[in-house]
This record gives sequence, C-alpha cells and structure tokens, in this order.
Amino acid sequence: MSSFQPNPQLAENIARVRAEIAEATVRSRRSADSVRLVAATKYVDAATTRQVAAIGALDLGESRPQEIWAKAPELTDLKIRWHLIGHLQRNKVRRTLPLVALVHSVDSLRLIEELQSEAARIERVQPILLEINISGDATKTGFSAAEIEQAIAATAACQNLQVQGLMSMAGLDTDAATAQKQFAAVRELRDRLLVNSPDNVSLAELSMGMSGDFREAIAEGATMVRIGSSLFEGLL
Ligand SMILES: *Cc1c(COP(=O)(O)O)cnc(C)c1O
Repeated sequence: MSSFQPNPQLAENIARVRAEIAEATVRSRRSADSVRLVAATKYVDAATTRQVAAIGALDLGESRPQEIWAKAPELTDLKIRWHLIGHLQRNKVRRTLPLVALVHSVDSLRLIEELQSEAARIERVQPILLEINISGDATKTGFSAAEIEQAIAATAACQNLQVQGLMSMAGLDTDAATAQKQFAAVRELRDRLLVNSPDNVSLAELSMGMSGDFREAIAEGATMVRIGSSLFEGLL
C-alpha cells in the first residue's frame, strides 16, 4: 500500500480553518462540535479533493452536480459525505441523488416534487435543506421568506424527504456587518418557522457562511459552514 503524503500547505490550511471555526464557536459560547466544516472542493480536481478527504475533512461540498458525478466514483475508498451546495436542475436529480448525503440547495416546489418522486423510486429518505434567498438578490436562487412556509408544508407531505434545516448565502458584495444581519435574519426566520412546523420537519441545521463570512455566520447560529477558497490558499 502506498503511504499517504498530505500536501503540507493543504494540511496547514485545513488546520487553520478548523482553528478559526473553533475560535468563532468559543466567542459565541457554542460547543466546538456544534459547527461542521463542509469543504467546498469545486476549485480543485479529484486528486486534490482526495487529499482534502484523506486529511480528514470528509464533508465535501460541490456546487455543480456533474462534479460529484465525476469525483465520487474515484473516491469511493474514502468515507466522504457529498453535499450538493449549488442549484440542482430537475433533469440531474436521478443521477445525483444516490451520491449525496445532503442537498443544501432545494430552491423550488418543482424540485421538491422531483426529489420526492426519485427518492421514493429508489426507496430512500433523502435529507435536504431549504435554501432561503435572504438578501433578495435577483441573481440568487432560493425561496423568499414569504414562500418558505409553503415549501415546508410541501416537503412535510413528502414521505421520502427529510427537511433538516435552512441554507443561505449573504448577498453579493455585502460587508461582514451586513452579512451578519442577513444570517441573523435566517436564524430568526427559522425560529419563527419552528413554532408552526409539522413534527416531521426539523430545522436544526443552518448552512451559512463561506470563507469571507463564516465567523459572522457562526455568531448567528450556523451549524455548517461551506468553505472553499480559504482551504486552497497558496495552492491555486
Ligand atoms: C463556492 C461556494 C462556497 C465556498 O465559497 P468560498 O468563498 O470559496 O469559501 C460556499 N457555498 C456555495 C454555494 C458555493 O458555491
């Protein structure tokens, strides 16, 4: 067996980001294990993605389903949990669903319908997050705050979908303070939604925060941060 030689720069970056996440949890008086790192590997090829997982970051996020289709079969020897974090077209559901642990980016009622029908066909219960367009940017996908209750009701009726929480991104070109307000708005929306949510809907997970704003997201309750560029500094 060939022994694994981690790229020192990558190992250092991952350790640094983990330490920064830990610091942010301490500052927010949260437990260190309350925030999960989802490494956004869209910037790197399968070989570097393998390194990320071998170093120990096993939650990997891709924004394009095709990247998961390409990488997952090459990396089956590692216990990777694939997260789809970008828009999923309905015609890509069939090929994507068997590969992913969590779909973060469920952004339309039609996608919910398609996911339910495919999950039923392959007889599995698929964990999902509902994406909220909290900034209101027209370029961003996701449900508006006004639409989200309908989306929750729709998923609650789906036997093969399990809602675990919400996903969101800060608006384009927002500074850290504005991003933090948007993350706070996601948390407050979640807390309001919980009051009337059906029993089979959990909203425990909040997927929010990227390289530029994960500290603010953790301060506002993020349970998953999706980090790419910070992990690959000095490598790209
Ligand atoms: C690329 C991407 C990330 C990671 O962004 P960085 O700024 O590189 O950390 C997070 N979420 C989504 C949806 C992405 O597409």
